[in-house]
Amino acid sequence: MATREQHPGLLLRQIPAVDEVLQEPVVQRLLEAHPRWVVVEAVRETLEERRQHVLALLREGTEASVPDLATLIEQVRIKVLDRARPSLRRVINATGVILHTNLGRAPLSPEAQARLQEVAQHYSTLEFELREGTRGSRQVHVEGLLTRLTGAEAALAVNNNAAAVLLSINTMAEGREVVVSRGELIEIGGSFRIPDVMRKGGGILREVGTTNRTHLKDYEAAIGDGTALLLKVHPSNFQMVGFTSEVSLTDLVGLGRRRGVPVMMDAGSGALTDFTPFGLKGEPTVQETLRSGVDLVTFSGDKLLGGPQAGLVVGGKVLIERLRKNALARAVRIDKLSLAALEATLRGYLEGEKGVGTIPAVAMITCSLAEIRQRAERVQAGLQEQAHSSIQVGIEEHRSEVGGGALPAESLATYCVTLHSPRVSPHRLEAALRGADPAVVGRIKGEKVLLDLRTVREEEVTLLIEAVGPILASEIGS
Ligand SMILES: *Cc1c(COP(=O)(O)O)cnc(C)c1O
Repeated sequence: MATREQHPGLLLRQIPAVDEVLQEPVVQRLLEAHPRWVVVEAVRETLEERRQHVLALLREGTEASVPDLATLIEQVRIKVLDRARPSLRRVINATGVILHTNLGRAPLSPEAQARLQEVAQHYSTLEFELREGTRGSRQVHVEGLLTRLTGAEAALAVNNNAAAVLLSINTMAEGREVVVSRGELIEIGGSFRIPDVMRKGGGILREVGTTNRTHLKDYEAAIGDGTALLLKVHPSNFQMVGFTSEVSLTDLVGLGRRRGVPVMMDAGSGALTDFTPFGLKGEPTVQETLRSGVDLVTFSGDKLLGGPQAGLVVGGKVLIERLRKNALARAVRIDKLSLAALEATLRGYLEGEKGVGTIPAVAMITCSLAEIRQRAERVQAGLQEQAHSSIQVGIEEHRSEVGGGALPAESLATYCVTLHSPRVSPHRLEAALRGADPAVVGRIKGEKVLLDLRTVREEEVTLLIEAVGPILASEIGS
């Protein structure tokens, strides 16, 4: 029951007006430092939230009150500071997922960053032939590198792999049939579905086989006058076990040759280097894929390759030329910043071990367990020193994932710093770390929060300790 003091009208009238709050000295100072709209919006929202809160309490019959002006102003201040920060900003990835799509996939190598910065800052040779003084093609900056690295005749870089698949299907199969195994009609994160991309590209989907088993004779039976393409798709973040059967790319290429139908492979991640010595089996390199004789291979620039967002198509000269001439190519073209970073990343591969080692995604996959352990020990020591006595900071061995749709069944041994408190739930602890500056994203396992040091680079260790330490020392711990 609302008492007389709880009369809604009276309570709501205690909430100050927007103009009143704007006159407060603290808010005036915020107005000097930040755009007016940011401050006004923060005040409006704070007051509106307060109104809704009071109304909700009254509806429940709970006693409600309006906080004092200082509290409201503090809320305004927090909102303004939050909005003044860039929305797209750095985080420390302590999830152990190396190619984390939501965290921006592959970080760039120092050389890629430098090239990107130079091209961002200045005019460039993007589409300009310096020797002739004439118009050039943006593709020249990477095509030679891609063909050299993969052994393909020709190559094309576009906006991302989804675009590469779309452009390829549209070029080769608009209004005609594309034969795909039912076991490869996958959906990857972010609602990229092979059947949908196929339709958007104008291809007519011709499914063959069953979910778990597809045989060469299934493809063979599906080929007819309307067949434009045989497509094979990397299963990405999905793996079938048990009674399964798929047709090898080599057999599919053999069939395509016999029947005069081109074969394309959407390789998804697209490794340029062999990771089997590091315990990752089952991810053929693009070079190996091409050796099967396949006509086109598409893959991402920011998955196992470790570069910027990009989609790469490699294959025969005639086909690549047709892709280039498709009007869609302009709509999906790669931008100059990605191109600069891509060129540098590809050059890294051509420099051999030293160059490849500067590509962060590759370095994280190949990093030794001993090095990760040593990092974990430093983080543990640094956090232990600052943490409230109720928080236990430990080290445990766990598994990291490659992510990015590569190698779903494979994982890498790693060391994690574990945080556990008998008083604070791991969910609250994990959320508090996301509020750090920079934000730290870990993962929860059972009652603990894990910070996986495989994805935290050497130069981030100190920063991680400085960001997390105060949180463990503060209200979370006490
Ligand atoms: C990741 C992936 C894509 C999409 O690549 P983007 O670069 O994210 O556009 C397409 N096909 C497969 C098999 C993939 O794994």
